[in-house]
Amino acid sequence: MLRINNLNVSYGSIQAVRNLSLEVHEGEAVALIGANGAGKTTTVNAISGTIPSRGSILYQGKEINGMAPHKVVKEGIIMVPEGRRIFPKLTVVQNLIMGAYVRKSSKKEVLQDIDRIYQMFPRLAERSKQMAGTLSGGEQQMLAIGRSLMANPKLLILDEPSMGLAPIVVKSIFTTINRIKQEGLTILLIEQNAAMALSVADRGYVLENGEIHFHDTAKNLRERDVVKKAYLG
Ligand code: ATP
Repeated sequence: MLRINNLNVSYGSIQAVRNLSLEVHEGEAVALIGANGAGKTTTVNAISGTIPSRGSILYQGKEINGMAPHKVVKEGIIMVPEGRRIFPKLTVVQNLIMGAYVRKSSKKEVLQDIDRIYQMFPRLAERSKQMAGTLSGGEQQMLAIGRSLMANPKLLILDEPSMGLAPIVVKSIFTTINRIKQEGLTILLIEQNAAMALSVADRGYVLENGEIHFHDTAKNLRERDVVKKAYLG
């Protein structure tokens, strides 16, 4: 579904991503793991078209490198950005409705989808009329995921969903990510928390200093000594 070949991104003289190649097949959950500054966010920003990059990004056989960000969204690549970026001054339900604006659907369909999100995240249902900026960090992450699902993604990219959250909240977020995967959605999961990421992913890529060091099935990565030592503690 997504095939990146020799991606390179530089910020002035700093090369943040170097010759990165990765693939995500339909129905798969793929983890891109790496420490702070490894180049994870840079990679997703290149995919979503928000920063310029060199190399090829093929999505369903079509070159999307160079495409405007809103067109990438129209293709069905929806990102849940690092730091969530929900609309703090809008209510929970208003945020969800905003998520649906990229698609053409009837009010009835939008309402059905909001219902689906509320079943997935009962907490959001209870807080439907609450201002999003007053939600807890975990609830904001749920809302960010819910809002992205409202856009009917074909490929969902999650950028560090565990960031800044307590372990118990992280666990609950990952249970939901796993459920979304089980429903058949294709997922690219960017994470520093390798243990959680590899618990839901089918395969994983390990990024260090802007380069993919190795990639394998999640199961093999979990058993690899170097991954255990550096990323699994
Ligand atoms: P984190 O988990 O801390 O967000 P990351 O793996 O997502 O890390 P990136 O944010 O992609 O890493 O950063 C990769 C490198 O590129 C870092 O060295 C960072 O300092 C640099 N970088 C990122 N954004 C910019 C920018 N706008 N200008 C200059 N350098 C940048």
